[in-house]
Amino acid sequence: MVDHARNAAAFVSDIERTRWHDQALWFVRQKRDRAARSVPEWEKLRESAQKVKSHTLAHLGHYLERFEANARANGIDVRWAADGAALRRIVAEILKEHGAVRVVKSKSMLTEECGLNPHLQSLGIEVTDTDLGERIVQLAGDHPSHIVLPAIHMKKEDVAALFSKHLHTDPGNADAHYLTRAAREHLRQKFLEADAAITGVNFALAEEGGFVVCTNEGNADLGTALPNLHIACMGLEKVIPSAKQLGVFTRLLARSATGQAITTYTSHFMRPKPGGRLVVVIVDNGRSRLLKGRQAGALSCIRCGACMNTCPVYRRSGGHSYGTVVPGPIGSVLAGASDVEKFASLPFACSLCASCDNVCPVRIDLHARLCDEREEAIAVPDYAGKRAGLKMAAFLLRHPKLYEMLMGLARAVLPRLPRGLLYNRFNLWGREREMPIPAKKAFRELYRERRCRRR
Ligand code: SF4
Repeated sequence: MVDHARNAAAFVSDIERTRWHDQALWFVRQKRDRAARSVPEWEKLRESAQKVKSHTLAHLGHYLERFEANARANGIDVRWAADGAALRRIVAEILKEHGAVRVVKSKSMLTEECGLNPHLQSLGIEVTDTDLGERIVQLAGDHPSHIVLPAIHMKKEDVAALFSKHLHTDPGNADAHYLTRAAREHLRQKFLEADAAITGVNFALAEEGGFVVCTNEGNADLGTALPNLHIACMGLEKVIPSAKQLGVFTRLLARSATGQAITTYTSHFMRPKPGGRLVVVIVDNGRSRLLKGRQAGALSCIRCGACMNTCPVYRRSGGHSYGTVVPGPIGSVLAGASDVEKFASLPFACSLCASCDNVCPVRIDLHARLCDEREEAIAVPDYAGKRAGLKMAAFLLRHPKLYEMLMGLARAVLPRLPRGLLYNRFNLWGREREMPIPAKKAFRELYRERRCRRR
């Protein structure tokens, strides 16, 4: 079972990094707010996005079939992968058919979810992640900690040390321009040598049979420009009815993700290039099961990362503490729905402030989803103690007289107890916190007294 609290404790043990991580993400959140406020019809856009997504998910089979038929008519080869293993097999087979041994990949959380990189590497294929943040975590032998800002947990000094080891840069120079230039030169060579490109898909257009990839670095375009083979891996929830709805999402995505008006590159792939081959692999990997279950609405997510940037728990505990490919509020919902026992701690990594609901461009009611997940999680065997505690609380709250009596007793006894009895290894809550001194009188008593005085 993933222990979010323990993982978070490891992250926050570095106080400086925790502060910096928190501030960096809050800065992005504020940029998002300014960008959202600059669009008067922002709430209408969110409403439209929510409607389009729920309509598409309700007719997902129809739109996927339309996409497949129209993509094939455009000369795109469409494959279906039931799970991660199928995606790995299909991609490896296509690469083998083309004799491809060097692959450049632009950012795709789906391929991360399906473990594509290690599989291809085990077959002797060199896979280079070309998004700068992804390349940094790849060189570090690490995983992304954020879906839009994969290396947000690393400081530029960490990157300087990493680049000096792998790209032979000056270890003492942590200037962002210097490091970016070094990465650009390194990646340029990889683009020139590549036999094939792999990209993700942000939006697939059912009516037009094409798809859109959004990047800020142009790496999807550079990656696909030279090799004749392009494989696009797409989660089946990425389809939208047509290009008519695309503007709603592109306007929301970049503003919600980074506070930009639009991603620097919004690339449309409608057919293979002359003499080339374009394959789209549509991946299920648990999504159709999710669609039938309690968290179907989570499939509306467009992976902007805004719920992570605003989440006070995520900002202070880091993405790796979730033990999932997609962390933060949406990650906790998705993980719980896929394996409630393994991820039972995640719905509790939430203050229920609902800030995520307010920023989500497709209006997923994340905090209500997390409450649902708590109800499921509380049933797992590891939470027997929590369950018993909640049952006791429910019983007390149903018996106000008993509750009042016990609270009165607690107010009288607690201040007199020796500290060691209150703060010990069994009191996890009290490890980092001090209980406030109990008030002399309960609110109910004061209320009754004042009401009597008024009469
Ligand atoms: S749940 Fe909403 S806010 Fe979070 S990543 Fe998905 S679209 Fe963005």
